[in-house]
Amino acid sequence: MTLLSEMSEKTLDSLIERADELFKEGRCCPIKCGGRNPRFCGAIEEGIKVASFAVHDGEEPPVSGWHGAGNVFFSGCSAKCVFCQNWPISQENNGGIYSIDEFAAHIIKLLAKKVHNINLVTSDHYLGKVLRAFKQIRNEIRVPIVYNCNGAQTEELFKIILQISDIFLFDVKYVTNEAPRELCAIKNYADVVRKCLDMLLEKNIPWVEDDLGILQQGLIIRHLVLPNYIDNSLETMRVLNDYRERGLNFKIALMSQYFPAYKALDNPKLNRQLHKEEYAQVAELADEFGFDGWIQDLEEEVNDETTQD
Ligand code: SF4
Repeated sequence: MTLLSEMSEKTLDSLIERADELFKEGRCCPIKCGGRNPRFCGAIEEGIKVASFAVHDGEEPPVSGWHGAGNVFFSGCSAKCVFCQNWPISQENNGGIYSIDEFAAHIIKLLAKKVHNINLVTSDHYLGKVLRAFKQIRNEIRVPIVYNCNGAQTEELFKIILQISDIFLFDVKYVTNEAPRELCAIKNYADVVRKCLDMLLEKNIPWVEDDLGILQQGLIIRHLVLPNYIDNSLETMRVLNDYRERGLNFKIALMSQYFPAYKALDNPKLNRQLHKEEYAQVAELADEFGFDGWIQDLEEEVNDETTQD
């Protein structure tokens, strides 16, 4: 059973209404654009802009399984991180425009490929429309909904997200104030992400795999280590350990796959790959805390173009 399948029509309708309202008022991310056009994140008013609907085998093993995750890569993002590895989609807003009916039809096509889940990648600005599409086909969605997000969700939107998402692929990018001030449009990211972590702690999603090891419920916290921002990464490990000691149930995905892209190419601090010693400090601290999950190997990743989204 998934949260969506168990939800009453009335609750789903009220979540749709609330998500639509937040979009209309431009309060669906911490930027709070006020609904002015063009939207800061690149969201369009009519329809949903999507870069691709894809079977994806690059997520963590219990998420991709052997049939793959059913990824939906939404166009646009309000965080505008200068190093964004997916910048053609998130910043250039590349993608096609789909009506709600067309979007629903693409989800059905993904499901026909036997994907293990529907993985919504950066969907905050289209949440109301996505839920409308899900409402049309909810009897056919028998797999978990994955919310794959940048970690900077407003409290109002996150309340909705927590009610529909069985699995989180949740980024914790920055916990210090200095890093987002230099790298991200959401300057108060560190405060926002802690609020989301508080809400995740309150909900405390259990880790549930089916008999074949495919994730049905759970929280995976991802952190990408950046060159020259090792203090931010070390502090992230400490903050996550603190949440774990307070009872937060999660697995970690520590990522070494950084490569200079987008505006990082002109940024003297970010225009290089990670040094082995930098990554080792963070990986050792994660090890010391005994985090369960996936810690990428730096050497392998430097020569491996596979990325997790
Ligand atoms: S997600 Fe986009 S539309 Fe929503 S408040 Fe942020 S910038 Fe505005």
